[in-house]
Amino acid sequence: MSSSIVFVFGLLIGSFLNVCIHRIPKSISIVFPNSHCPKCKKEIIWYDNIPVFSYLMLRGRCRNCNSVISPRYLIIELLTGILFVMAFNKFGLTRDSGSILMFLSVISLFSFLIVIALIDLNTRYIFDVTVVPLALAGIFLSFIIPGRQPLLALAGYLTGGAVFLAVAVFSLAVYRQEGMGMGDVKLAAATGTFLGWQGVLYMSLLSVFLGAIISGYLLLSGKKKRMDPIPFGPFIVLGTFIVVLAGDKITLAGNYLFPIFLKD
Ligand SMILES: [Zn+2]
Repeated sequence: MSSSIVFVFGLLIGSFLNVCIHRIPKSISIVFPNSHCPKCKKEIIWYDNIPVFSYLMLRGRCRNCNSVISPRYLIIELLTGILFVMAFNKFGLTRDSGSILMFLSVISLFSFLIVIALIDLNTRYIFDVTVVPLALAGIFLSFIIPGRQPLLALAGYLTGGAVFLAVAVFSLAVYRQEGMGMGDVKLAAATGTFLGWQGVLYMSLLSVFLGAIISGYLLLSGKKKRMDPIPFGPFIVLGTFIVVLAGDKITLAGNYLFPIFLKD
């Protein structure tokens, strides 16, 4: 399997993730109906719905009404393709079932996280319909992937939830405003089912660190005001990407801290 096939597969999944990002907050089915132009409501024909290619051919405009289509669709598709290739380079993909399950588990985790981060950015809300299936998937996969331990997944769930619950209570007590919502707590817990308790601790450190730097920059540069809420979900997502793709490199202790992502 070559990385270009994985990339094209990532683009196709990215196209589907765009649909999820758009429809989940509105409680519309992610399967039916087919995609429509948001302006003129005309159904998009399959050949105008090919990831990246159609966008470039139509120069980012609707074929029917000529209104501009957000480049965001293109960016999400490319981002998904790139993350899938990074997962492929990191974990490989051979014919043995353990390797296939491992790769599938990483790309499903990434797909959920892309949807969750983008919906949080758009709506400042993390939906149960995204985090609950993610947690269940992590627990389920820990039973079927060779080398993974269900107890470690459960410990990751509890650790992620406990750390972020503590941060939420702390920020409420100190800043007297909700810095972090229950959605963030549930998301951190769900990522813990994939990362294990060690991985989720690293994710917590990374995401709080990234959150502090980036919100500090947004406040200092005047892009955000003191009381403007900054969604925290994207930082949890960013922290998880880093731990999964580079966790073994950022720890002096090495790979054994992340037994869940060990190759056999
Ligand atoms: Zn249109």
